[in-house]
Amino acid sequence: MRLVTFSAFGQMQLHGDLPVEGGQYNSHVVALDSCEPMKQILIVVAALLTAQNNSNVARTDAVPSSRQAERVARSFQVRETAFQGRVHDLPLTPSHVHWGYFDARLPPALRIAAGDRVRVETMIARGVQRLKDAGVKDDEIPASLKAVEAAITDKTAGPHPLTGPIFVEGAEPGDALEVEIIAIAFLHPFGVEAINPGGGALPDDFTAPALRLIRWPPGAAQLQFAGASISMAPFFGTIGVAPPAGAARIGSREPGKHGGNLDNKDLVAGSTLLLPVNVPGALLSIGDGHAVQADGEVTGTAVETSLRGTFEIRVRKRAQLKWPRAETRLGYITMGLDPDLDKAAEIATREMVEFLVAEKKLSREDAYVLCSIAGNLHVTQVVDGTKGVHMTIAKSIFR
Ligand SMILES: [Zn+2]
Repeated sequence: MRLVTFSAFGQMQLHGDLPVEGGQYNSHVVALDSCEPMKQILIVVAALLTAQNNSNVARTDAVPSSRQAERVARSFQVRETAFQGRVHDLPLTPSHVHWGYFDARLPPALRIAAGDRVRVETMIARGVQRLKDAGVKDDEIPASLKAVEAAITDKTAGPHPLTGPIFVEGAEPGDALEVEIIAIAFLHPFGVEAINPGGGALPDDFTAPALRLIRWPPGAAQLQFAGASISMAPFFGTIGVAPPAGAARIGSREPGKHGGNLDNKDLVAGSTLLLPVNVPGALLSIGDGHAVQADGEVTGTAVETSLRGTFEIRVRKRAQLKWPRAETRLGYITMGLDPDLDKAAEIATREMVEFLVAEKKLSREDAYVLCSIAGNLHVTQVVDGTKGVHMTIAKSIFR
């Protein structure tokens, strides 16, 4: 394994979506019309591992040139400074973090008006312990992470420390919360990939725990791992709202209608996530920074890290969303979540049909046909208990 090591802290500003849009990447979704999707995924994974052993993996990532990345970065910086509204800060402190759950009874950590921006700091899933286990030295870990780790003693509800909740004035049940990801920066220039025995897509094949500490030079656009150069595309694995009032607290591992641990790699800077609001104020919480992740998230983790995000939060009145949806700069996304991957695919497809009928005024039949010829189904993740499938459709086809 080739590691790039840096002892000094640094931060990387990534303003803009790196190459993760529907039209640019070739996803490896298996044939979802058959009845055994998990088995097929295992075959695909096994084939990829075999191919890798033969040093014969076809390169399918569309990697932008550094000039392209710089242009995107500049355009987003301009956009951030041009914002005239109010910007709040929600730094990583113990009183701003709840660990491992969403709960309608939590008091807000911050109140904002719809249309405001918030800079939110989040810490790595499983906290400081994961960094230490992977070999990060104590003096490399930001003090804010250590303070949260020490102050929060009950970490049993779920693996994700979440920053929030944020109360958004005017958000009511039946509305949709629009969470636009404006910019993302790293709180430390390293992350951890973990194989959890008994978990992931191959729970019986890898029986020993394994951690990979991956470092990158501050400001780098790529990380190096196992002889491969990977474009970083940071995003928040977990963005969610409170469940309905009176409902039980929801653990942070399983995603659901509230959003949560979606682990959707398309939710990079420049994308907007839409979440159905369940309680007044929505109570938005964010965490689980990922430096980069592939569709499927097969080991059970991405390159887990700590991120600061700038979000613009809006309210879409009476949207009556059933499931989370998203919009990237290049496409529309619908999502299906279910323990059964077939059902998740069904939900994502039906959601896209409904989106096309409502937003593009297509007949139901035309919408379904369009999904078949222009809607791409992706396996979001197969490792969070509740599995995810999302469909992307390019904006450019609608002229
Ligand atoms: Zn994660």
